[in-house]
Amino acid sequence: MSDDSHGRNATASGHGLGAESHCPYCALQCGTRLTPTTDGDLTVRPTDFPTNRGGLCRKGWTAPALLNTPDRLRSPLVRGRDGTLVETDWRSALDLIASRLSDIRDTHGPDAAAVFGGGGLTNEKSYMLGKFARVALGTSQIDYNGRFCMSAAAAAGNAAFGVDRGLQFPVTDLANSEVVLLAGGNPAETMPPLMRHLQHPDLIVVDPRRTRTAEQAALHLQPAPGTDLALALGLLHLAVAENLVDHDYIDRRTNGFEDMWAVVLDWWPERVERVTGVPRDALRRAVRMLATASRAHLLTGRGVEQHRNGTDTAAAFVNLALALGLPGRYGSGYGCLTGQGNGQGGREHGQKSDQLPGYRMITDPAARAHVAEVWGVPPESLPGPGRGAYELLDALGEPAGPRALLLHGSNPVVSAPNADHVAKRLRALDLLVVSDFVPSETAVLADVVLPATQWAEEEGTLTNLEGRVLRRRAALSAPPGARSDLEILHELAVRLGQPAWRFPTEPRAVFEELRRASSGGRADYSGISYERLDSGEALYWPCPSTADESHPGTPRPFLERFAHPDGRARFAAVDGTEHVPDPAYPLLLTTGRLASHYQSGAQTRRVAELTETAHEPYVEVHPDTADRFGLIRDEPAQITSTRGSAIARVSLVRSMRTDTIFLPFHFPGSGRANTVTSPVLDPISGMPEFKVCPARIAPCEERE
Ligand code: SF4
Repeated sequence: MSDDSHGRNATASGHGLGAESHCPYCALQCGTRLTPTTDGDLTVRPTDFPTNRGGLCRKGWTAPALLNTPDRLRSPLVRGRDGTLVETDWRSALDLIASRLSDIRDTHGPDAAAVFGGGGLTNEKSYMLGKFARVALGTSQIDYNGRFCMSAAAAAGNAAFGVDRGLQFPVTDLANSEVVLLAGGNPAETMPPLMRHLQHPDLIVVDPRRTRTAEQAALHLQPAPGTDLALALGLLHLAVAENLVDHDYIDRRTNGFEDMWAVVLDWWPERVERVTGVPRDALRRAVRMLATASRAHLLTGRGVEQHRNGTDTAAAFVNLALALGLPGRYGSGYGCLTGQGNGQGGREHGQKSDQLPGYRMITDPAARAHVAEVWGVPPESLPGPGRGAYELLDALGEPAGPRALLLHGSNPVVSAPNADHVAKRLRALDLLVVSDFVPSETAVLADVVLPATQWAEEEGTLTNLEGRVLRRRAALSAPPGARSDLEILHELAVRLGQPAWRFPTEPRAVFEELRRASSGGRADYSGISYERLDSGEALYWPCPSTADESHPGTPRPFLERFAHPDGRARFAAVDGTEHVPDPAYPLLLTTGRLASHYQSGAQTRRVAELTETAHEPYVEVHPDTADRFGLIRDEPAQITSTRGSAIARVSLVRSMRTDTIFLPFHFPGSGRANTVTSPVLDPISGMPEFKVCPARIAPCEERE
């Protein structure tokens, strides 16, 4: 079995009820049964939920250990005169934050206060964070770390289909597929139970590394990092040139094919082979496998999306799927594998700088009027769009940028690109407030730290990678001293002059409001209720409200029509570029995840069973590359770009490309990969270029 499904108990101390819930980590949202034990611990076991079919990965099994991590925050902290963080009581902490926010707002204007959220927050918290920013603070400056995960695929999906939903089909459809092309994803490490659905189809993997997923593939295409767009254009060229496209589907269901082909014409196989390093015969084989299958799926992941041309790259893969007639065809389809636990719901309810709940655009007058009415404020009081995530972090403490930041559910000191610079910007603030449950690398920089409740201690909903809305249920009481983000936002809003009723603290009440705010939007949740979810219904959005509350939800949204007004999908005429090597930085650094860790590692680095297998960063290097640069196995090496250096132990991997090195991005300090990565942004989505950066490598004498 590809995941860690051996039977065992995982425990955390506590008292409570026990509940059917879901793993706190990734967007697969594996089903779990949480049971408090008589000695006050918590047992987690997988349930036979469709996405995990009884499996859990090691992160899910060990998740209860997080709840009792020795450095769990149990009291608010405030920075004292001597510069250290000292314990204080909640009233003092909240009074201090509200008073300083008011002063900063009065002096510098509403945009001087900013909010930064996370893709792991529940739908209720994501929604309330957006409302708090726009109503209580009146600021346009809100964005979230999902900008670093999903934004490129979301932009491409919106343009192509009229709405962005990660998977456009239930994940169980994959098991009946004949061929699945997976571009830039490594679920065998990042979400192992997903591999249970990929045992039957022939797998084509596009990845610069021979990952554990690639090892299970029938065909592995191994392009140079940063050349995925050229690869997708080449596959599409071959599909058209070999007359493998679905002409009837293109005629009936799409627009823009001719404009797209006018660009793709120039990406003939020999050119694509030269640019990507992938043999043309392998390209041809991949296209033929996909095109001749009666049921096929095309999936993208962060590997092809986290680029300066991430939206164009995702769009090129969508083009390929459209040309082959996959999206909106029962049994086939296109989807992107959302990463963070609520990466889908987190991007639908107002945390994004340009959006209001229900996937409404903040510049749309009708959307503003609808949401303002639900919130009980004048539409003209709502601010306009603000900065995207990296631009927001980059502006902190600058003369024209925010002076205060409230940060919930994110650790940008490790997870943002150009992380040294981001840490400097955070230090330049007049007020940094971090809500977290552990002293993360970002929390230790804060002026005020607020201890937050955790997944097994709270109620709410999340939306998994399929667009299915799930209930999170409390199995334990919150520990003394911790409060939920909803309570924190309520207390601050009241202190900032808002009526208490406008900021409810009960997740169910917040969800009821979210239903109304999303009603009629692209991500319509108005027909979904806690009662329906608790009765076991599988509800995928859009799920509009009906008189008898019986809309079944939409597992496969595009079977009849796409979400554009004419019902047709759109090809995008996107073009590629060719990489120009920099002799000073002759290698291509790419970054990614390990099976034992999740995102910045703030959670998983605190679980002993996970750090046993992955306690320090390493850099994967081909043996020939190691010889060329004088590197020795297991010895430290320094990886350097124009932004800075990271140090990691050398791991020799014969399947690596000789022009490529790999760093996992979960580690702080001297091994922080994001000290090296590039802050160049995709101009359409604001996605940073995490997945490729020119770098050099050399032996390192000293380690920190
Ligand atoms: Fe499942 Fe993802 Fe949790 Fe692993 S991390 S148990 S794959 S939800």
